[in-house]
Amino acid sequence: MVRAPNPGPMTLDGTNTWVLRDNASSTCVIVDPGPDDDGHLSALAAYAPVEAIIVTHRHLDHLAGVAPLADRLGGNVPVLAAAPELCRNADHLADGARLDLAGLSMSVLAAPGHTADSICLLVEDGTGERAVLTGDTILGRGTTVVAWPDGDLGAYLVTLDRLARLSGVPVLPGHGPTLPDCGAVAAEYRTHRDQRLDQVRAALAAGASTPHEVVSHVYPDLDPRLLDAAEWTVRAALAYLEPA
Ligand SMILES: [Zn+2]
Repeated sequence: MVRAPNPGPMTLDGTNTWVLRDNASSTCVIVDPGPDDDGHLSALAAYAPVEAIIVTHRHLDHLAGVAPLADRLGGNVPVLAAAPELCRNADHLADGARLDLAGLSMSVLAAPGHTADSICLLVEDGTGERAVLTGDTILGRGTTVVAWPDGDLGAYLVTLDRLARLSGVPVLPGHGPTLPDCGAVAAEYRTHRDQRLDQVRAALAAGASTPHEVVSHVYPDLDPRLLDAAEWTVRAALAYLEPA
């Protein structure tokens, strides 16, 4: 894993770029090139030959480096993503698609919620060892934001229930450290979301009438830098509880 130098309240220590290959493979696949940072992209280009670049979702801290990295690698490298407009030299990734890259077999799990186009990738190497790349759907620390209006809480809860079935599979997240058990952390995330929904219901019952007022009820001691993220998440909860 190569960590990009873009730390911050939303990116934790920075974006994790995953360079993956089976032990027996001379090529690799790069997942989430990260920001357009010269030093970071040089470090990634040094892993050439690269069979493909995969993007877990459309946010710029994962995506901005794609085009410049592809150019450094010669421009013909396929870029794979769920959203057709993010792809280059390849069709978009549908739920359940299977990929054989760099000696690894990968299956695509559509994971809408954080964004509409989020995917996770279940990866298995030649020895049968598995891991799941989760992008921003599950992070190495804390919980993620459901980025309303592109994000959708109802979809995210379904995604968490799917990921909860990956019991014992290690998580390689888009930010923060790796985690040992996708099933366990997805179940924890689900509990956390259910508690937040209860808090939003309580805030509404106590008279909060705007997203801003709900945020003050639910997140009373919030780091001001996270206020926008909290408001997106509260708007997603309100859209879930009170569909238009
Ligand atoms: Zn994101």
